[in-house]
Amino acid sequence: MRLGIIGGGQLGRMIALAGYPLDIRSTVLEPGTGSSAGQVCEHIAGEFDDLQALYKLAQASDVVTFEFENVPVESARWLAERVPVFPPARALEVSQERLAEKQFFQSLGIPTPPFAAIEDEADFHRAVAEIGLPAVLKTRRFGYDGKGQAVIRTPDEANAAWQKLGGRPLILEGFVKFDRELSLVAVRGRDGQIVTYPLIENVHIDGILHRSIAPAPDLGEELTERAAEFAARVLTELNYVGVLTIEWFQDGPRLLANEMAPRVHNSGHWTIEGALTSQFENHVRAVCGLPLGRADAVGFSAMYNFIGDSLPTAAVLANPDAHLHLYGKSARPGRKVGHVTLRANSAAELQEKLPEWDVPFARG
Ligand code: AMP
Repeated sequence: MRLGIIGGGQLGRMIALAGYPLDIRSTVLEPGTGSSAGQVCEHIAGEFDDLQALYKLAQASDVVTFEFENVPVESARWLAERVPVFPPARALEVSQERLAEKQFFQSLGIPTPPFAAIEDEADFHRAVAEIGLPAVLKTRRFGYDGKGQAVIRTPDEANAAWQKLGGRPLILEGFVKFDRELSLVAVRGRDGQIVTYPLIENVHIDGILHRSIAPAPDLGEELTERAAEFAARVLTELNYVGVLTIEWFQDGPRLLANEMAPRVHNSGHWTIEGALTSQFENHVRAVCGLPLGRADAVGFSAMYNFIGDSLPTAAVLANPDAHLHLYGKSARPGRKVGHVTLRANSAAELQEKLPEWDVPFARG
């Protein structure tokens, strides 16, 4: 089986690596050479809307997937006429536009923060009055890792936010005073089978994921079941195939959907060592039409991102609980260059070790 992957980042790299034991060989499409994924499998150099490059990818693949959600929808549709493409292009369309995404959740009865669509300044003032402060103003497209956003707490900040972001389609959301952020990684096979990983607790620093803990501590069964049921609605409605991640705000007993990613997710990296089947293997299995593996957690995991630069390998591995993943990227501020997953045998052991882990792996 030959798998095509649009995008050559670390997610593509870990998808390609997960294919090897199953003798599934990958080819990535990525403009630059020496990409994280391109180092471990075949590589086609080309832009994501370059028809010649897309044609080459179709020729090299029995099935095509993608590792980032800003793949041009037209490219996914064009490819899908030539080779099976999973997840479906409609999942890209919905997740590329924050308003469409929130309306989609709403149409499925999945709670979200209050939101309003903004086209012009009059809409903006109306939305601020309707939703109230604090609120978050966001661009509808190409926002990630907290980019293209402004938190508004005062009328002065409202003006500043409009100066910064006004002039393009926006969305205003009520600011949720959440207890914590959670994510749910779920996967649907070509036959409609759905498997769900345990809920994950995430901490962001400057809008970038810093630490994930899985399973999230102190979860009621009810919350887990509700998140899984909401995810099943999304997967079924989209006739989805592959891994999908939904990010949530937990506010007491309430779960509010923030956004979804039609792909494997940074908050699911712990599944490589911390679950019976990793998110990457299950994604490969799903898109290749194979049965899915169990998604139960094996013990308790904490995952820390290395942002900007990693620590010396030997220093990380001096901790016998540590599993290091480096992405083959050069150091650069703000860049995800690797991660480490730390494992414990019990929830109590994990809690005990977190302070000791938090220090060396805290972002400098
Ligand atoms: P996003 O790009 O939408 O995932 O937002 C990045 C981060 O900003 C989230 O992980 C939250 O920490 C924070 N954030 C986004 N939207 C809201 C909101 N409506 N209320 C509170 N915090 C938010």
